[in-house]
This record gives sequence, C-alpha cells and structure tokens, in this order.
Amino acid sequence: PSALPSNFIYDAVSADVAAGRRGGRVQTRFPPEPNGFLHIGHAKAIVVDFGVAADFGGICVLRLDDTNPETEDTSFVEGIIEDIEWLGYEPADVRYASDYFGTLYAWAEQLIREGLAYVDDQDPEAISAGRGGYGRPGVESPYRDRSVDDNLDLFRRMRAGEFPDGSRVLRAKIDMNHENMQLRDPIMYRIRRVEHHRTGDEWAIYPTYDWAHGQSDAIEGVTHSLCTLEFESHRPLYDWFLTQLGVADPPRQYEFARLELTHTVTSKRRLAKLVMDGIVDGWDDPRMPTLRGLRRRGYPPAAIRDFCREVGTTRTNARQSIEALESYVRRSLNETAQRRMAVLRPLKLTLTNWPVDADGSPVVEYFEVPNNPERAEDGVRQVPFTGELWIEEDDFREVPPPKYFRLSPGREVRLRGAYFVTATDVVKDDAGRVVEVLATYDPASRGGNSPDGRKVKSTMHWVSAPHAVNATAALYERLFTAEAPGEATGEALDDVNPHSRELLEGCRVEAALADASPGEVVQFERLGYFAVDLDEPMLFHRTVGLRDEWAA
Ligand code: ATP
Ligand code: MG
Ligand code: MG
Repeated sequence: PSALPSNFIYDAVSADVAAGRRGGRVQTRFPPEPNGFLHIGHAKAIVVDFGVAADFGGICVLRLDDTNPETEDTSFVEGIIEDIEWLGYEPADVRYASDYFGTLYAWAEQLIREGLAYVDDQDPEAISAGRGGYGRPGVESPYRDRSVDDNLDLFRRMRAGEFPDGSRVLRAKIDMNHENMQLRDPIMYRIRRVEHHRTGDEWAIYPTYDWAHGQSDAIEGVTHSLCTLEFESHRPLYDWFLTQLGVADPPRQYEFARLELTHTVTSKRRLAKLVMDGIVDGWDDPRMPTLRGLRRRGYPPAAIRDFCREVGTTRTNARQSIEALESYVRRSLNETAQRRMAVLRPLKLTLTNWPVDADGSPVVEYFEVPNNPERAEDGVRQVPFTGELWIEEDDFREVPPPKYFRLSPGREVRLRGAYFVTATDVVKDDAGRVVEVLATYDPASRGGNSPDGRKVKSTMHWVSAPHAVNATAALYERLFTAEAPGEATGEALDDVNPHSRELLEGCRVEAALADASPGEVVQFERLGYFAVDLDEPMLFHRTVGLRDEWAA
C-alpha cells in the first residue's frame, strides 16, 4: 500500500508478506525489561513495533523481558503496561519471558545432548579474558570438552540450586575464534539464587538475553523481531540458536537506530540514578524524559507518536533536537488547550476612577472571552473585571528601558478584552519596591478598543484581584545543560542543570482554573501551556512556551 512509510523495515516486511513467508503473517513484539519505566526512546520502539503490526494487519504483543530478577519488579511491569496504554497502544497480549523458562530449559538440555552447549566452571573474569578480542583469538575453556552426561548432570544440579551464584554457567559451544565476539561461546545461563517477581524461588538459574530472546520470539510466533542497532552483532547468534533448534520458519531480527534527544538521557540506568540521587522527585517528575514524566508535564500522547513517526526509522544513530519534539507538543496543544488568564508574579494594579455602586462596593463587570479562538465550538466564558487587578510584575517598569512598550507612568496599554488603562502613580514599600500601580481606565474603551481609533503598543493579561485564586506554577529549564550530556566528561550526570525547576508560589489565576481537571493542559495567555498536576489541584507545570524560546 502506497500510504505506508517507506523504510528498510517496511520494505522487508512488505517483501515477506508478498512472498507469503511465515504464512504471510506479521507479528511483532515490544520487549521491555521491567527494571525501570519507559522513556521517549521506548516510545520510538513502541511506535515502530505496534505501527508495523497495525499497518500490515498483524498483531503486536507486549513481552516483559524478565530475565534479570535482581533489578526487576512488578511495580515496573504495571507502570509499563499503563504507559503503553497512555501512549495509545493496546498489546494483543501481555507475555513474560519467564512464561518460557521451562521450554528454554528443555531446549538447553537438547543443545547439551547434541554437544552444542557445556557447563563452564571458570569464573566470570576468566571467561571474559578467554574470549579474547577483535583481531585476537579466544582461548577455549578447559571445561569445553566435558561429556554430554557430565554436562547434563552439572546443568541439572545448577538448576537445583546446588552451586553458588557465579560459580558455573552454561555456554553455547560455537567457535572461540569467531570474528564476531557474540559467537565465542556465549553464555546461556547464569546461577542466580534470587527470588523472581513472578516465578518466586522456582529457578536458581536464569537465561541470558541472547538465549531468551529469539527463542521467546519463536514460541510466540513473532515474524519480525524489531530492535535497536546495538543488537546487530547479536543477529548471527539469534539465527544460530534457532537453526540449531530446528525452528521452522524462524522469526527474523531487524535493527533500527535508537532515538536520542538533546539535553536529556535515554538510559534507564542514568534515569534511575537521577531518581536515587534526588535530582528529580521521581520517575514521573515533569523534567524526566519518561512517558510518565512527559505525561505529568502535559505532553499529548499524539504529539509523541507523531514526532516518533516523523523522526523515521533509519539505521543511523542521531540525536534529535528536543525543540523538534516540543514543536509537535505546541502544535497539538494550540488546537486543543483552553485559554485562561494567569498572573505568575503578581503586581497590584488599582484603577482610581473605577466606579462603585449604590451601596459603595466596587462594580464588577463581566467580559465574554472565547475559550479557544482556534475552536469556536469550545464556546466562551464570562471573566470578571474590577478596579482591583493583578498584572505581571514584568509588565510594569517605573523607568521603562528603551523599546519597553508595556505599562509605565503616563503610558497607556490595553488590558486584554477589557479596557485601556494609563498608569498614573506607584505605591512603594519601605525598601522602595513598587508594590502597587495606580492607573485610570477609559470607560469608552470597553472591550479593549477605543472609539477614537487611538492605538496602544501593548496588550497585557490580568486577573481581577477579588476573584483570583491562588496557584503554584512550576517553570522548567533543560534537565541537562549540554546538548549531548556526558560528551565532555563521559558522565552524563556531570551536565545536570542545577536550576532546572523554578517554583512560583502565590500566582493569581482566573477562578475558572479551579475547575480544570487533573492532567488538563491550558494555555496561560502570553505565558505558555501549563498542565494541571495529576495529584495537586492548583499546581501547574509549564509544558512548553508559546514560542521556541531556546531557538538561537
Ligand atoms: P536502557 O539502556 O535504557 O536500559 P534497554 O534497551 O535496555 O534500555 P529495554 O527495556 O530492554 O531497554 O528496551 C525495550 C525495547 O525498547 C528494546 O527493543 C529496545 O531496543 C527499545 N529501546 C530502548 N531504548 C531505545 C531508544 N533510545 N530508542 C529506540 N528504541 C529503544
Ligand atoms: Mg534491554
Ligand atoms: Mg537495559
């Protein structure tokens, strides 16, 4: 079909389907290890894995690659499932590599019986040294030629938990001089006498990634196993195991580039360290590139999906700019976000000629304001206006610098949708700081236009002080100052930005914002898009500015 993306994966899958390979079926899998939460890089893999399946009328299964019990946990499993759903995908099934421990074990015995695997008693250092290096031959283990019976006996006793952790491994017997290191007798099983979050203490040995992965693909009926480029050198091993086991119509592995973003990291280990070291509040901190962080930050899942698709599926690793992702977020929010007025750093503005009504209380006027000028169907709301207002501290200068067109003594500006006002005087505190601006308004400019055609150079947002609600705003800078964190020192965390968050308490916002729902993203006029925190009602995270403020 011509509407499909054109890239090497789609081309390969198309060709397989056309040739009727593997019954013309397409089945993919997304195989995260439940040792952390998903990040933007995983989103890319999800978009590819689920996208390819959907585009060819096939299915994509979520497989939790739970072969390292020490670092894994069910809370990560639940988080991963939730995050995939939030991103907008539904796995055809949820499976676990641990579902296949029994089959994998039986297959390992089969390879032992065929003389293709052996128990090695060397310690991990000796195994690693014996592997040699590129251009350097490996050294065969002294245990490589054990009899099948000895190997079977030792392997069964490894399984039974008779030996200490790390004392023995099961290795495939391939070629210690192979030019591809992955084929120099790779490890299939390690002894780890630890509880597994699903299988408990049933197993004292656990399969390695290489032994578990392709075989799990085969068991599930995966046709195309899509993964990132670092597994390219593993592909011959992936194929070797399936060939030795005689799997008919085996799955095939295809590799694509990892997604990396500027000013952040996509390594679970480093993300976990940010959490451990208290640099962020948790995996769901709005500064984190995790899906739960981006969600709390207000990123629409559709914007993430579109960005991942736009980046494309290539075989060249390249860091994408975070500004490109943000432009997708901004475009999407511009269409959907309700407009509201909020004052982040409030300064009192008092209209000295504002009328009082018969009983002496100040008049309240209501202005009808569109909720989203981009979408008429979102309707309008009534915003109260009085002679006592909050404006942004930044929108007033007692002594305006050159080219400053906002409010200053003697200057007239427009209060958005309300009136023209002219500053007349200021009130200062003992320290000489301006704490209140006095102004007059022009009753003829109701609605924000003057009948005599008089122009003003600036339009400012405002909130009626007696009606305002208190709020906290969290403003964010990049989590890492460097574009490529760690490029200079080798350690990404050296480039952490110590000022990545500014919390502004005492913001004054429109009362309508008290009704915003958790996770909703609104546009604060002139200030950016803000997401209502998922737990704290009057906490607003700045999702992204209205313009690309980081552009040079
Ligand atoms: P990490 O190095 O952060 O631990 P990982 O690759 O070990 O990442 P897994 O949970 O094993 O994380 O990854 C699940 C799937 O997501 C794999 O197929 C992997 O290739 C893919 N993936 C992980 N990181 C990225 C990334 N940055 N870009 C694209 N795909 C990724
Ligand atoms: Mg992995
Ligand atoms: Mg990993």
